[in-house]
Amino acid sequence: MIRKRIKIKDVVIGEGGFEIIAGPCTIESKESLYEVAQTLSGLGIRCLRGGAYKLRTSVHSFRGLGDIAIKYLREVADEFDMLAVSEIIEQEKVEFMAEYVDVILVGTRNMQNYPLLDRLGKIDKPVILKRGMASTIKEWLQAAEHIAEAGNSNIILCERGIRTFEDYTRNTLDLSAIPAIKELSEFPIIADPSHSTGRRELIKPMTWAAVASGADGVMIETHQCPDLSMCDAQQAVSLETFEEIIFPISRIREAISKEAQLEIFR
Ligand code: PEP
Ligand code: MN
Repeated sequence: MIRKRIKIKDVVIGEGGFEIIAGPCTIESKESLYEVAQTLSGLGIRCLRGGAYKLRTSVHSFRGLGDIAIKYLREVADEFDMLAVSEIIEQEKVEFMAEYVDVILVGTRNMQNYPLLDRLGKIDKPVILKRGMASTIKEWLQAAEHIAEAGNSNIILCERGIRTFEDYTRNTLDLSAIPAIKELSEFPIIADPSHSTGRRELIKPMTWAAVASGADGVMIETHQCPDLSMCDAQQAVSLETFEEIIFPISRIREAISKEAQLEIFR
């Protein structure tokens, strides 16, 4: 299968292009986003994430700053020459989001929102399609087809964990989905160790495992004061921990590619 490379400005995801997407779960203020982006940019990170509209299970939880946060994300990303990545939750925001962000994220709860997927198929912005928390790989790929059939094949799949009987972790990171997607689909596949574990102490090993499984990128929630994070605090990692997490990634990638070369000569 010829696999796709998604090119967004000078960033390439898939077919050798590996990218780390990082930033807060939710944009809390322009100042805090700036602070996080400054550190991430200093570490060489080129993709800044941050949510503006949050689908919270409890109606009493913080649901994000809304449209203004998307504008903050654009301004801060431009300041550090980063790509802006943010989640869309409703069809009505497609044009607005397309104007301000570089990559549109479809969260787990909307993976089967077909009218939304169809609308995203009519624009040319890359879309990260997260796996539905109770979706099979087949259903996930069928969801991606809705976007592609409507006209947009700039799709990146994201394994973010599925619901299982295990409740120690928030979800179960289905690592096998990463090589499976590589067999079944042309689209790049990234992993989200944050939502899949829900536990900050598990982010480092699961990130490394996802890289070793062949992921084309990872998305990690970071916060300057993780315990104070207004959303998903349990899984937020500090910028110091984030640096430790990303440090060996290139060596892990190199190790597995050498393995692949050895296979050829065996
Ligand atoms: C997110 O990435 O902020 C998010 C809400 O993720 P998910 O849809 O996977 O829960
Ligand atoms: Mn989150």
